[in-house]
Amino acid sequence: MRISVITNWAYGITLALTALSGASFIMSSRSAVEERSAVAEHLALDTLVEELALGAEVRGDDARLYVMRGGDRHLQAFHADEETERRLEAAAAKLSSQGLSSGEAKALSEIGKDSEELDKIEVAAIQAFQGGDKSAAQDLVFGSEHERLQKALLASVAHFRDLIAARTTSQLEAARSRSDWWSLLAKIMLGLTGALFLSVLYFILRRRVAMPLMRMTGIVGRLAKQDYSVEVPVDRRRDEIGEMNEAIQIFRANGIERDRLDAERRADQHTKDLILQLMHRVQACRSQEELAGVVVRFGPQIFPDIAGSLYMLNESKTSLTRAGLWLEPRHSAAAFPATSCWGLRRGRPHMSRENEHDVPCQHLDGTAVTALCVPLTAQGEIIGLLYLEERGEEALELGGSRLYLELIAENLGLAIANLQMQEKLTALANRDPLTGLFNRRYLDETLQQRAQGHPSEPLACLMIDIDHFKRFNDEFGHDAGDMVMQYVGQILRETVGPVGNPYRFGGEEFTALLPGLGEQEGVELAETLRQKISSAALSHAGRLLGTVSVSVGVAASPEGGSVDTLVTRADAALLKAKSEGRDCTIVASRIRRPVA
Ligand code: GH3
Ligand code: MG
Ligand code: MG
Repeated sequence: MRISVITNWAYGITLALTALSGASFIMSSRSAVEERSAVAEHLALDTLVEELALGAEVRGDDARLYVMRGGDRHLQAFHADEETERRLEAAAAKLSSQGLSSGEAKALSEIGKDSEELDKIEVAAIQAFQGGDKSAAQDLVFGSEHERLQKALLASVAHFRDLIAARTTSQLEAARSRSDWWSLLAKIMLGLTGALFLSVLYFILRRRVAMPLMRMTGIVGRLAKQDYSVEVPVDRRRDEIGEMNEAIQIFRANGIERDRLDAERRADQHTKDLILQLMHRVQACRSQEELAGVVVRFGPQIFPDIAGSLYMLNESKTSLTRAGLWLEPRHSAAAFPATSCWGLRRGRPHMSRENEHDVPCQHLDGTAVTALCVPLTAQGEIIGLLYLEERGEEALELGGSRLYLELIAENLGLAIANLQMQEKLTALANRDPLTGLFNRRYLDETLQQRAQGHPSEPLACLMIDIDHFKRFNDEFGHDAGDMVMQYVGQILRETVGPVGNPYRFGGEEFTALLPGLGEQEGVELAETLRQKISSAALSHAGRLLGTVSVSVGVAASPEGGSVDTLVTRADAALLKAKSEGRDCTIVASRIRRPVA
């Protein structure tokens, strides 16, 4: 029940009880008034009959004195008393007509009758005395009849007074008990009013208002400090406090929801910041390895608790190789054919799910896992794959993150395409198109970096020149000459590749840089190289070209001189080899000795 209803009821009942209590007090005091009027009535009647009896006695005495002494004084007193008696009798008659019981009225009429009888005898005695019969007169007033009547009168008076006294006593008792009853009722009402007031104070004000309000004050205080961990107890009362409790619960729920939205917004902003950082960094990457490193670092921050890999598509667009991974994805192969990924085949993100009817990618190991393959594209060309895998408890429900994922994929695709383009251009700039070896420009760059970076580390250099190359051009044509050049380039790649780098220096001259090798080791490699080149007879367009020989000059650094003079010294050794008949290896240290 609502507190206002209870309060109104309590107010109404208190008012009614107070009114009843007041009425009871009035009734009680009215009984007291009745008590007093009963006593007053008793006194009036008592006095009246006493006066009547006394009047009859005095008149009798006056009559006796008159008949004994004669004298007008006594006769006049008798008549005056008679007048008083008549007045008293009239008053008695009036009283008997108002509220006297029949017994009382009868007793009163007895008194009147006796008084009248006495009066008659006394009047007869006075008349006899006035007629001169003094003894007859005296006989009448002193006779036995007169005495009997006098006694009867006194007895009637006594009887009447007893009746009045009895009635007064019973009236008094009735009035007193009524007064007591009303007084008790008034006290009960007052007690009830007090009890009701105290009950309202305790149960409504204290239990239902003050205590819940105090509890709520604490809760509201904590909620105001945004402490939403505070428990708001469920209060099913349908009153004002219940409504307030419900409002506080709604306030707390709203606060929690607002906090959740704030946290979501902050997390979203954090993700956006991370994506932006990732984009900035991948754009600044100088190689695909560097880019893979950046993705591996940012991947787990952007998609927490989701494992992933970055795959690169090979140049022939047939297979993918893992370039980087984070949080250990376990279910996708490190390398796989492009056709085994539904994402790559369809050119759009593909979710492989357990317990679903869509086809899973074939590069997965077939165990129950949920994985997402996002193709990385640039200008319509697929160039790689971003692979995400559900890990432990974290479900791969991207939902709102799908947009971010597409943004990341698009940026990664563009960045990788740029890097691949850069790498192609660099290769074009650094490679010799005929032999596929690094060119002179790249050799100069490498030597410069070496001179600046690691000038004291051992480095051997071979300068190689094909002997009488011009002859191939002249006798078999330029194409045959090119073929010889490619043949020498191939042998160089095979022989030098494992320990260093071969370069085309220019024309039919080549250079090999061998990091970590000294002059003698360089000579050994040069000899191997010479033997390999001259081991086979070449033919071109069905014509036998014969064998190819080369002359080699070897120099080393820091042994024999600095990196800056390395090529010059090797070239000098080569010239020496040429001058000594070709098809041989000369070390720079050998030709420097005579100079020294
Ligand atoms: P030597 O034993 O003294 O080195 O004699 P050589 O004939 O090898 O040297 P020479 O400097 O006289 O001739 C080199 C020739 O190589 C000159 C040039 O036409 C030819 N040549 C340079 N570059 C190429 C090329 O890319 N292809 C072809 N086919 N010939 C080239
Ligand atoms: Mg030559
Ligand atoms: Mg030459």
